[in-house]
Amino acid sequence: MLTSKERKILNLIDENKGEVIECLRKLISFKTVTPPEDGKAEGEDYRELQSYLSNILEGMNFGLDIWEIDASKLESFPGALVKPNRDLGNMPVVVGKLESDGKGRSLILNGHYDVVPPGEMENWSHDPFGGEIVGSKIFGRGACDMKGGIAAMLEAVKFIQKAGIKLNGDLTVETVPEEEITEMGTLACCQKGYKADAAIIPEPTNMNVLVAMRGSLSGKITVFGRAGHAEMTQPHWREGGAVNAISKAVKVIHALEELTEEWRTRPDKRHKFLDPDVITPTLIKGGEWSVMYPEKVEITFDSMFIPSTVNLWEEIEQKIMSVAATDSWMKEHPPKLETDSGQYGAEIDENEPIARIAMEAASELGIKSKPAGMGSLTDAIHLINYSKIPTISIGPSDKTAHMADEFVDIDELINLTKVLALVILRWCGCS
Ligand SMILES: [Zn+2]
Repeated sequence: MLTSKERKILNLIDENKGEVIECLRKLISFKTVTPPEDGKAEGEDYRELQSYLSNILEGMNFGLDIWEIDASKLESFPGALVKPNRDLGNMPVVVGKLESDGKGRSLILNGHYDVVPPGEMENWSHDPFGGEIVGSKIFGRGACDMKGGIAAMLEAVKFIQKAGIKLNGDLTVETVPEEEITEMGTLACCQKGYKADAAIIPEPTNMNVLVAMRGSLSGKITVFGRAGHAEMTQPHWREGGAVNAISKAVKVIHALEELTEEWRTRPDKRHKFLDPDVITPTLIKGGEWSVMYPEKVEITFDSMFIPSTVNLWEEIEQKIMSVAATDSWMKEHPPKLETDSGQYGAEIDENEPIARIAMEAASELGIKSKPAGMGSLTDAIHLINYSKIPTISIGPSDKTAHMADEFVDIDELINLTKVLALVILRWCGCS
């Protein structure tokens, strides 16, 4: 049942939809593309965006903490993708804290302001940084992933304050870079000690309440052969003949496919909200010359796994070694495995109070919402694993995330603003 205070806020949001829309359009207008893995993005507006957000937070009486991440100073541990050499000097983190009398529960609202590149411009029918409104949609990179979520959370707080309501629990707003690549922005907040009784990341989730996400692991398998003339008959390898590394790599790739097949049917890989573990060859490099036996093939793979999986690496290694054992060459020249990077998945109980409150709020507004999982991961992994904070995500449709003509539906943006306002009120309590 909605209280009179809640009704007042919902009415305010309905009467001022234009302000939510304009906030999002402004956020989209800042170019904040994540720098590529091996470089620095030039001409991006990270600082400009963060000073815009800082002004909004300051205007709402948040105390600010703004800093630049020194990746080399972050604590590295298994399950965190810390890249100490990555230069994040240009991409500030802004954390705002709104203190209360401390009688209620505290809450973190977290959003990443980095976006993936727009890709080929010819695939866009709207300016990716224009925030154009056509019909019921706002178009632009980040519209749903997740500047829409940031706009909704800021506007939710604004309308709570406009209604003259004071929260009983501390509210922390974190706006961070790097979600799209390393998750170091939120990790930096966690390592700086920001804590709360619960957290919400309004990532796109089709308005479901995200409670579980898979971890990821990537690596490289090097398969060896022996070089030789491709147009000359080769003796057996034991007599010095050439060995085709591509043919050996085919066996390794088949083994990876078998592994995925096995995981698909194994009971310990079943999860209520997530697909089973999977390993996918994603890049292949091999061969030196068109008339030479290739002497080396490198297979890069990406693997996703459910939070309860703890021995993924050993399983991959065992599978590769068992196929190598069936091949006389590979038995004596085994493939080499190297990890590149990995992050643990995370999950919370679907009955955690924060998840229940979010689902109740959505349903009272007539929005369908259920507990859900995500095949990929979000910054919630650090809030859950490192800071031990029950964290959910709820946000608009993810249909166009990372695609050309990304958009958010205006009704969904407004609905999200309302849901967040209700959840903030009900979690923190108010007077
Ligand atoms: Zn996102």
